[in-house]
Amino acid sequence: MSHYVADTTLAQGYCDEHDPTGAVVPPIHLATTFLRPPEGYSPTGWSYSRYGYPGLEMPEATLKVLEGAADCRLFSSGMSAMTAVVMALQPGDHCVFPIDMYHGLRTWLKGFSTHWGIRFDHVDMTDLDKVRQAVIPGVTRLVWAETPSNPHWQIYDLAALAEIAHKAGARLVVDNTVATPILARPLAFGADIVVHSATKYLNGHSDVLAGAALTATVDDFWGRVLFNRDYHGGILGQFQAALLMRGMRTLHLRVARACESAMALAEALKDHPSVNAVFYPGLPTHPGHALATRQMAGGFGGMLSIIVAGGAEEAERIMTRTKIWKPATSLGGVESLIERREAVEGPNSHVDPGLLRLSAGVEATRDLIDDLFAALDAKNGN
Ligand code: PLP
Repeated sequence: MSHYVADTTLAQGYCDEHDPTGAVVPPIHLATTFLRPPEGYSPTGWSYSRYGYPGLEMPEATLKVLEGAADCRLFSSGMSAMTAVVMALQPGDHCVFPIDMYHGLRTWLKGFSTHWGIRFDHVDMTDLDKVRQAVIPGVTRLVWAETPSNPHWQIYDLAALAEIAHKAGARLVVDNTVATPILARPLAFGADIVVHSATKYLNGHSDVLAGAALTATVDDFWGRVLFNRDYHGGILGQFQAALLMRGMRTLHLRVARACESAMALAEALKDHPSVNAVFYPGLPTHPGHALATRQMAGGFGGMLSIIVAGGAEEAERIMTRTKIWKPATSLGGVESLIERREAVEGPNSHVDPGLLRLSAGVEATRDLIDDLFAALDAKNGN
């Protein structure tokens, strides 16, 4: 899809010209149940809101177009969407996950796999040979990639991973939360399923918890994902769906500004004497830069991380000194956030104690750089 089409689709937000009220944004229908004839289902197709309701279709259809998918379903959170996909597996199935990935899913996997009988390995997904060695033909059913990945923003080769997965009889699932369909469309590289924490860029205002799953093919596996949403009650709520649609209408603008600021920050931070490392795929020194240039279009994302000299203590001091960067977890909102990742991930974290994860919002780029540099340069006690 060209950027023109994506931008226009989002801005128009599928405004319904045939709405008799003439409203340019859709109403929120709060009904949990819908009239139906005694002998069966309602002619509208809606029966009970755990399975769907008017107001959900618009954001689902918009995201489906953006990702180039055959189907899309919205969930009550990113975790709800992602666990619905993993729980579509059968006991005994094996999966391959990256080492660098969202820690919440990693924690759930550890707990879930033991009593569900799912086996999995974490591998360095930048090394395709390691992935080839990890897959077990006929037993591995999922290869899971998140790229750029949390919190080192590694780039995984989606076309190569799709080939490895398919050869072994597995599906490639991609967490596209950080790239968003504005920068990358994994299904076009051969992925089978895309998942999102729509809490992040898709909504973009830090006021909705939401998730999405999309598929390239409507098949039995997808049927099990849908079953999980319907019967675990994982559907997105009516208010949240309306807010998500509102947020998505400016996705392209917010992502463009976040990319611009993250790139400028990475460039400025790489030469700072108190910064030991900068992780950002837009920097030519990033090991995944060439791949990101091929796999992403329009930017390298709004997320970057730095390791500061002085470890956890200095990192925490920096967080107390910033005025524009707000100390909070999460990402992809209009406001810029800073977090010491190890503290957020907890005792099992593999992240350097001095790593600060930065989510660039839509504030003026110059202000973001000045605020962070003032915090880095301030003497202790200031
Ligand atoms: N995937 C990524 C990359 C995330 O950053 C997050 C949340 O931080 C999730 C998944 C989980 O999404 P949610 O918090 O909406 O359940």
